[in-house]
Amino acid sequence: MAERALRGTRLGATSYENDRNTDLAPRRDVAFDCPKGHHFTVPFAAEAEIPAVWECRVCGATALTAAVDLPAQKKAKPPRSHWDMLMERRTIADLEEVLAERLAVIRERRGLADATQAAPAVQRKSA
Ligand SMILES: [Zn+2]
Repeated sequence: MAERALRGTRLGATSYENDRNTDLAPRRDVAFDCPKGHHFTVPFAAEAEIPAVWECRVCGATALTAAVDLPAQKKAKPPRSHWDMLMERRTIADLEEVLAERLAVIRERRGLADATQAAPAVQRKSA
C-alpha cells in the first residue's frame, strides 16, 4: 500500500531526474588564479567564450585565467567623458555659438538691468 502512494513534492523541489543515460553537454574546466593565492576551476560549455576574469570563490577578488589572453589594451582605454562625447559632435565654434545664444536668453529673462553686460556677448557672437 505504501509503495503505491504518490510521492509528495513541493514547488521548486529538487529534480528526481538523474544523469543515467544522459549525455552531458561537452564542457571544459578553466583554471583561475586569485591574486590572494586561491586556485579554482570553473566548468564551461566547450563552445562557450571563456571570460578572462572570474570572481574568486573563496574571497571574492577578481581572479585571472591563463587560458585567455587578457584584453589589456581594451581595458587600458580610458572611458569617454561627457566632454569627449560632446567634442565628437560639436566644435568649439559651435559651442561658443550655443553659449552665446543661451546667455542671451538668460540675460533677456533678467531684464534690462543687465543689458550693459549683454552687449559684449552679442559682439562675440558675431565675431
Ligand atoms: Zn581569493
